[in-house]
Amino acid sequence: MTANLRPDSIAVHGGREDLTALGVHALPIDLSSTNPLPDIESGGDSYESMATGGYPLAEGGAVYSRLWNPTVARFESALAQLERSATAVAFASGMAAMTAAVLAHTASSGKRHIVAVRPLYGGTDHLLDSGLLGVEVSFCEAGQVAQTIRPDTAMVVVETPANPTLDLLNIRDVVAQASEVPVLVDNTFATPVLQNPITLGAAMSLHSATKYLGGHGDVTGGVIACGEETAAALRRVRAVTGGLLHPLGAYLLHRGLATLPIRIRAQQASARHLAAWLAGHPAVERLYYPGSEGDPASLLQHQMRGSGAMISISLRGGFEAAKQVTSSVRLFTHAVSLGGVDSLIQHPAALTHRPVPPEARPSASLVRLSIGLEDPEDLVLDLDRALVGHAVGRRAASRTTMPPVPTAH
Ligand SMILES: *Cc1c(COP(=O)(O)O)cnc(C)c1O
Repeated sequence: MTANLRPDSIAVHGGREDLTALGVHALPIDLSSTNPLPDIESGGDSYESMATGGYPLAEGGAVYSRLWNPTVARFESALAQLERSATAVAFASGMAAMTAAVLAHTASSGKRHIVAVRPLYGGTDHLLDSGLLGVEVSFCEAGQVAQTIRPDTAMVVVETPANPTLDLLNIRDVVAQASEVPVLVDNTFATPVLQNPITLGAAMSLHSATKYLGGHGDVTGGVIACGEETAAALRRVRAVTGGLLHPLGAYLLHRGLATLPIRIRAQQASARHLAAWLAGHPAVERLYYPGSEGDPASLLQHQMRGSGAMISISLRGGFEAAKQVTSSVRLFTHAVSLGGVDSLIQHPAALTHRPVPPEARPSASLVRLSIGLEDPEDLVLDLDRALVGHAVGRRAASRTTMPPVPTAH
């Protein structure tokens, strides 16, 4: 139904195709943990279908909520339409989604090797590197994926823009290097509004839905957009291991999708203001923001539709300055997570990337900012006061006006 619509319209209408026939306007929340069975045979057949990665059968119904939930299925449909993938599979968290992706590609394939490009979200790095799922991981540069792949490589895992340094990599190039090996792109930072990895050849586009998709800091979830065959393998793992997204979470995520495009555009516009201002701040040693120094402009132009609303900065004052800034902001909340309507600041080396081995951990002078929907002038004032508290230079103290807005993208 939404096939010919533009993304903003899909965000509002996707996954709601059956509502009119149901006679309702808002998304219904089905909280049933179990469902009445018409009879043993049809219930059993439907159970079998879902436990092996398929759909509920018309006669047998959803049977049990770990196998299927219609509120979750509507969110999956909406997200798939935005990602321009055949389908999507939702999970209880981003890490539950990543775990299912690993298990779906390793457990029954006899392949146990994963190639991954750092930097990755700390939890992903830890999951792959910990041996917890019985996989062996080889980390490599984006340009060395082809050489690093082995006959037993089950999957390639990349993140772009990457958490926390906003590094960009060329998805098409990684996909070409991976050849037959499926590539998973963590698309959490870009969201489907700014980047669609599936259209660039990736097998999976993963989101921590906890972040931008929900957008209000009140729901934990994960989702993988992918083709039907991959989805069946993921649903099977989900049904068997129990990582299903809760229907209340699915409702909130689906509602969040309607405003995703306008949130992203507004948050990105503020982030551009802040990035331009931070680039010239005396307390800032280096700005990390897609499109700033050294980033291949072509990736921003052809692979993405904008730089997004995440910024990292390294501080001249090192760890002490990071401590000072994170504890003296008032409008920014000092908290992990990202992508919500309110601005957050956190120190990756101590928190989100703590489990990453020291050689791959972000610098102790780096802080990560998630720019929300506040007036950017207020965010500048808050950050300036916090930065100047520790800055070597004092010039910024009186600076309260914004520099001209860069107009790229
Ligand atoms: C937060 C995050 C995850 C993990 O998602 P959860 O919902 O916290 O489990 C994965 N990837 C990225 C890029 C993230 O920021």
